[in-house]
Amino acid sequence: MCGIVGYLGKREALPVIIKGLKRLEYRGYDSAGVAMLNGNLEIVKKKGKVSDLEAEIGTKKLDATLGIGHTRWATHGEPNDKNAHPHSSADGKLAIIHNGIIENYSSIKKELELSGHVFKSDTDSEVLIHLIEEIKRQNQCSIDEAVRLALNEVVGAYAIVVLSKDDDRMMIAARKGSPLVIGIGEGEFFVASDATPIIEYTNNVTYLNDREMAVIKDGSLTVKNLENVTKTPFIQKLELDLEDIEKGGYPHFMLKEIFEQPKSVRDAMRGRLVSREHHLFMSGMDQYLNRFINADRLILIGCGTSWHAGLIGEYLFEELSRVPVEVEYASEFRYRNPVVREQDIVIAVSQSGETADTLAAIELAKSKGALIFGVCNVVGSSIARIADAGAYLHAGPEIGVASTKAFTSQVTILAMMAMYLGLKKGTISMSQYQELLLGLDSIPDKVTKILSKADEILTISKSFYQARNFLYLGRGFNFPVALEGALKLKEISYIHAEGYPAAEMKHGPIALIDEDMPVVFIATKDSSYEKVISNIQEVKARKGKVIAIVTEGDTEIKSMADFTFEIPSISDALVPLLAVVPLQLLSYHIAILRGCNVDQPRNLAKSVTVE
Ligand code: GLU
Repeated sequence: MCGIVGYLGKREALPVIIKGLKRLEYRGYDSAGVAMLNGNLEIVKKKGKVSDLEAEIGTKKLDATLGIGHTRWATHGEPNDKNAHPHSSADGKLAIIHNGIIENYSSIKKELELSGHVFKSDTDSEVLIHLIEEIKRQNQCSIDEAVRLALNEVVGAYAIVVLSKDDDRMMIAARKGSPLVIGIGEGEFFVASDATPIIEYTNNVTYLNDREMAVIKDGSLTVKNLENVTKTPFIQKLELDLEDIEKGGYPHFMLKEIFEQPKSVRDAMRGRLVSREHHLFMSGMDQYLNRFINADRLILIGCGTSWHAGLIGEYLFEELSRVPVEVEYASEFRYRNPVVREQDIVIAVSQSGETADTLAAIELAKSKGALIFGVCNVVGSSIARIADAGAYLHAGPEIGVASTKAFTSQVTILAMMAMYLGLKKGTISMSQYQELLLGLDSIPDKVTKILSKADEILTISKSFYQARNFLYLGRGFNFPVALEGALKLKEISYIHAEGYPAAEMKHGPIALIDEDMPVVFIATKDSSYEKVISNIQEVKARKGKVIAIVTEGDTEIKSMADFTFEIPSISDALVPLLAVVPLQLLSYHIAILRGCNVDQPRNLAKSVTVE
């Protein structure tokens, strides 16, 4: 949440920053702002999108080779002009951009007010820049020392960049809990929340660790921790293509990412699944194979869509590797004093690898001795670094706020893990294992086939886009798919939707069904097919409208549902990888028909780095 970007070098900073902010806009779009330093410290900020900021800047002259920019996802103070970042100190000489939450801002603010500070915004971030100013004044120290001392006083999470009017060749950055990457070019430096604003200028980057700060001054970079110990930055090469972060001819990132799934699922299997030789290689698990084989329990943690992937993981691990599994919302797990033992393995699922609640849950589990296995997409992210081992999704950047391709890649990785563990434990037979391998290998082609019929989903969407509620029902492996379908619809079309196990319908939700209630059944030919047919009859008997996702060639459900969409046949354990795709398309088309901004849905942001 919140995108931050900074540039210090020889180019005009403003275009670099505006372009960077557009790339980071998925992280928040409540407001945007820039501070440019060239003798004067000029701040321009505006409620709304980066395009609103551009309009506000208009023809203003903001020539500078040093500047910072911010796109906000509000936590403290409503989204308006005054709460937009950058914020400045009382004397107007310092400017800050901040991603995160300063938890003790209120007590610091009270003290600063007693010393005469007057605040212009309602944010926690403005308090931090006033604190830095006050410490600098009281200690008569350098600005970087004041930043260091101030950060030792704050509780919470932050990625910040600070500029000082008195030093127009200096930029100070620091992080704790929120991501920050520094790009190192020829005589120029970039700072950003992720690498997307940097990629076209340099692929040499270094990631700051928690409680580290970077002082970029007079053409050189110094990294130190908050205890003032100098650190040698680890410079690494970025593996990111510019075209990965552009829309590539699609009207929206979400649609592009839905259509990328044949490739992203294949990339999740690349180097791991060699179907010709009937082999799986899960190197991340190999290092700890005995612990996996002897684990008392797997605890899968995640938030939102990643939690749904975790639920499918539960079905997969229990079915294929016969190990007890619990799936936890990271936010509940961490605050519940959970029982975690050394023989437990925690599998943390997160697209960004920066999800604040998941990170905190990992730290808790780690302190109790559990092994941590990360399943995330962003290479070098905090979760990837804190985990004992892991498997990357290799899905490429996911920019649409509603997760699509990351979900199918997460499920692909969890399926491979469960199969691998099942094979090593002897809980699945060789023939079952080989059938599953072939099944997995066929997923990309089958997803391609589904996508070739995307128009059928558009037709269905036209009948339902004005609905006020939706119900999604499925059983077994398809129950988490129902939850994910409902979440997608809520997120981007703002239609109220609920996912339920189909059998639970009669315990409550059936009361909602009337002729205005569309019910989406994930009704593939699996072990609960007959039961789901009965549930469809129950809905039809109450005049509900049925949209059913069925297996190719199904005639029975076709004769009773209002609309059906066929997906290729596959073994039960792998159905979610196919069944979710038409649901992603359904939510996309409904949202478009309702005139919603699918890539930037209201109130949401990607990469939830605040609690
Ligand atoms: N707490 C800051 C604000 O509300 C930053 C929010 C964030 O990083 O999402 O402005």
